[in-house]
Amino acid sequence: MSGAKRIGVFGGTFDPVHIGHLIAASEVRNHLGLDEVLMVVANSPWKKAGRDVAPPRDRFEVLCAALEGCEGLTASDLEIKRGGASYTYETLEQLKSDLGPVELFMIVGSDLADELVTWEHSESLKDLATLVVVSRPGAELPTILLGWQMVNVEVPLIGVSSTDIRSRIRDGRPIDFLLPRSAVNKITSLGMYTGAS
Ligand code: ATP
Ligand code: MG
Repeated sequence: MSGAKRIGVFGGTFDPVHIGHLIAASEVRNHLGLDEVLMVVANSPWKKAGRDVAPPRDRFEVLCAALEGCEGLTASDLEIKRGGASYTYETLEQLKSDLGPVELFMIVGSDLADELVTWEHSESLKDLATLVVVSRPGAELPTILLGWQMVNVEVPLIGVSSTDIRSRIRDGRPIDFLLPRSAVNKITSLGMYTGAS
């Protein structure tokens, strides 16, 4: 084996995961020839403070169910194990020290491109990974982000969000095909998103 492994790091609340996330992860892996894409479940998403988020272990279990049999896409509970607020720069630093020689690719949707400057230690993030921005409906791909080594990847535009899925479950509307059946079954067995929680 020659050279460092090329690893994609796709962080999210995944509350719950849906086909928009899964298609983006798979497309980026293929497009950039990555060995693996780690889908990292945020323990406590500091950007979403103030709204109810499902327990991290439940979100992780749903993600694991969704990824069954998906070669090259792996659910990571590294931020859950670390506990506390989930800062991406800590995650990337941890991966660098845990995995040995790696080249990291930090994947975000185009809706987040403008807010990257507000992330904790955004300056050090720039040295830790190449930024990969995937297209998402409603937000243009950025032409340039100052200081970042950046790649845009056009992926099929999927107008699905976790917010929409949560409200569909609450209202008893269908979620079929918006996420894999295995993930739907896990949500049902855990009793997620149905009521007050
Ligand atoms: P919520 O509605 O709760 O914010 P979400 O659908 O935006 O959920 P997140 O967990 O917030 O999902 O997003 C994790 C990452 O996935 C972010 O980088 C986001 O931009 C990206 N992403 C989410 N949905 C899509 C989509 N449909 N297409 C492309 N990227 C997406
Ligand atoms: Mg979001």
